[in-house]
Amino acid sequence: RQAQYRRLRNKPSISRDGVDISLQLNAGLLVDLPAVAESGASGVGLFRTELQFMVASAFPRMSEQRDYYRQVLDAAGGRPVTFRTLDIGGDKVLPYLRAIQEENPAMGWRAIRFGLDRPGILRTQVRALLHAAAGRDLKLMFPMVTEVAEFHRARGVVERELKHLRRHGYPVPERLMLGVMIEVPSLLYQLDELFQAVDFVSIGSNDLFQFFSAVDRGNTRVAGRFDTMSPAFLRALKHIVDKAKAYATPVTLCGEIAGRPLEAMALAALGYRSLSMSASALGPVKAMVRTLDVGRLATRLLPRLDEPAAAADIRGFLRAFASDT
Ligand code: PEP
Ligand code: MG
Repeated sequence: RQAQYRRLRNKPSISRDGVDISLQLNAGLLVDLPAVAESGASGVGLFRTELQFMVASAFPRMSEQRDYYRQVLDAAGGRPVTFRTLDIGGDKVLPYLRAIQEENPAMGWRAIRFGLDRPGILRTQVRALLHAAAGRDLKLMFPMVTEVAEFHRARGVVERELKHLRRHGYPVPERLMLGVMIEVPSLLYQLDELFQAVDFVSIGSNDLFQFFSAVDRGNTRVAGRFDTMSPAFLRALKHIVDKAKAYATPVTLCGEIAGRPLEAMALAALGYRSLSMSASALGPVKAMVRTLDVGRLATRLLPRLDEPAAAADIRGFLRAFASDT
């Protein structure tokens, strides 16, 4: 199996009916980086910057962050890297940051909420990223955005840093693209405003499903109770990709479902053309893409989304379709 996936490394990720599905990697530590070149991924779709902070014993300094990001960009060898600003809080705890007791940490003071309330930390990180990407492209996105206004404030931080670097004669990125992670359901009702503001979006389906279904992603009693392949969730995902297309905004999906062949197959049929996943998932997903007839699956799958969930039995349908192919 592994050898078979290795052979696919340099083969294009194109479906049988000619649909190009870009496959990228989720990464967060330097040890993940050799996989970027080895796996044949087209880039890093999600770089989780909090991992450097989680393995450190104190807040990494600006220079340490800068050097780290530079190594990431070097290892990617010109392939695009999408950095996500610090996503701490919730289940991601920093031992040196005094823990605050919260009843519902997943819905608490985390991610961009923390970043906007502690602008010094966000500013330092943004400065490190701008330095690291001098003369190259920088793609940067913000986690757990609930209102478009938060994106505007975060963008303000980036623009002020950029101005500061220019004023002091530092080289800056050649191109800067700013995006938002769609992982809070409220954004589904702000898509027009959102797509007019951002350069790209990435769907964090782990958190989006957690909040969509009110089901703790880490609680084994309930985590398996509801299906990501339910018509309701798939309608939500389709709504996002349709809107993104209407605004010509690039959209990637970087949650766990992107790395599962059956789910990735459904995502392709919904219209997703860019998926980001762990390195070990890339081979199996590429193997699926290369045997898939996206058009044929879409024709059969999409009408099912309008049926009641039990009758639609999307997962059963996908399994039958896959074994048919
Ligand atoms: C997600 O929520 O789907 C995601 C990709 O981010 P994380 O798993 O780091 O929360
Ligand atoms: Mg998330």
